[in-house]
Amino acid sequence: MNDYSPSLPDGLASQLRSRQPLLWLNPSYGTALPPSAAGYEGILAAADRFARGRRLLCALFPQMSACGGTIESELLPAAALQRALGADPTRDGVWFLKADHQLPIAGSIKARGGFHEVLAHAEALAIQHGLALPGGDLIELAKPQARALYSRHTIAVGSTGNLGLSIGIMAAALGFAAVVHMSVDAKDWKKSILRERGARVVEHGGDYAAAVAAGRAESDADPLSYFVDDESSTLLFYGYAAAAQRLVEQLHEHKRPPSADHPVFVYLPCGVGGAPGGITLGLKRLLGEHVHCFFAEPVASPCMLVQLASGESSPMSVYDAGLDNKTDADGLAVPLASPLVSPIMHSLLSGVFTVSDDALYVNLNGVWKAEGIEIEPSAAAGIAGPGWLLESEAGRSYLTKHGLLDRRANITHVIWSTGGGLLPASDHARFRAMATQQG
Ligand SMILES: *Cc1c(COP(=O)(O)O)cnc(C)c1O
Repeated sequence: MNDYSPSLPDGLASQLRSRQPLLWLNPSYGTALPPSAAGYEGILAAADRFARGRRLLCALFPQMSACGGTIESELLPAAALQRALGADPTRDGVWFLKADHQLPIAGSIKARGGFHEVLAHAEALAIQHGLALPGGDLIELAKPQARALYSRHTIAVGSTGNLGLSIGIMAAALGFAAVVHMSVDAKDWKKSILRERGARVVEHGGDYAAAVAAGRAESDADPLSYFVDDESSTLLFYGYAAAAQRLVEQLHEHKRPPSADHPVFVYLPCGVGGAPGGITLGLKRLLGEHVHCFFAEPVASPCMLVQLASGESSPMSVYDAGLDNKTDADGLAVPLASPLVSPIMHSLLSGVFTVSDDALYVNLNGVWKAEGIEIEPSAAAGIAGPGWLLESEAGRSYLTKHGLLDRRANITHVIWSTGGGLLPASDHARFRAMATQQG
């Protein structure tokens, strides 16, 4: 028996319960060396798999020929947004949006992890049945023999949102029986897209956790069914981590090469932690101490903050911290951080800031007005990041500690815009209206 229950430092616990947004600095940041090269093999394998999958993706989705079958997004200068939020480029550095809401086919960051896991599973099955060779071009997976094989197999996932879309769309495109378990309150447009693509949508009463549990049980009972597990999947994680390489190239293309004198700050919305955690690991591998990664979480669902701040000796959820996990940012409404990812973030993550739902709508509207870009509420979470670093006491103490306060004009700020590409225009209009109600 272990009657130890995890807890937070007193001041932090009451601050979180007040639901006032805050910036938490990770006291363990930089205390351990980054993972050894062995920990990086999965990232290189994922990058290699995406490269070998380009012809396949063009074959499955003709609209992808334009981008040569790459799952990549632009790094967009965000000077107008920066000015609209009152930040001055000569004093506060240069802002960019990493436009994952533009990612092809799935319209969100889940294209990176989700497509990677489906491709990896499909490749493994093909190799096992003598239909492909390890390390070969994945175009083999589009051949009739492979499709016949996949038609006997199922790929299942439990997700109310973007993960379900990315897994369901890619699995169905390859010819798998694709099953997406959702809670009844999931958005109708998401269910429609999945059904149009040939996926089966199973609706469950109860919440998201119940949908995942029921989906997993159904999948586990079928030996030909594979279940994508958002909480502990290394294939998802490495698919996200592969994003780092292209971002570093883009920073060079924009004449912002990262260095001690010109560091990069990256702001990543966090749900269970797989997407932002994978990207953080990938960036740390390439840029080391020249990159500083911060997660953004809703005030009601700061699961990574709670897990890291509790000391990590056992799982601690936002419910344990006295919070209710109620937020409109559906991609981020997660009570417990991934047990795979949180230990990896222990010494790599600089900190976490929290965001109110009201601020999400205001920032979604701000991006629309300044840049003409439609993003979803979860994707707006990172926008407050530069403000926290440059304007708050905690942010300034972080900059001082790292010798950056007098070099703040040199900082490149990258706000990761994680989704919204498939969002119906009417939903976006409703979200903008929520912003104006905030005044
Ligand atoms: C899933 C998601 C995230 C967070 O990713 P996790 O792996 O759950 O941490 C952020 N934004 C959007 C739009 C998402 O769909």
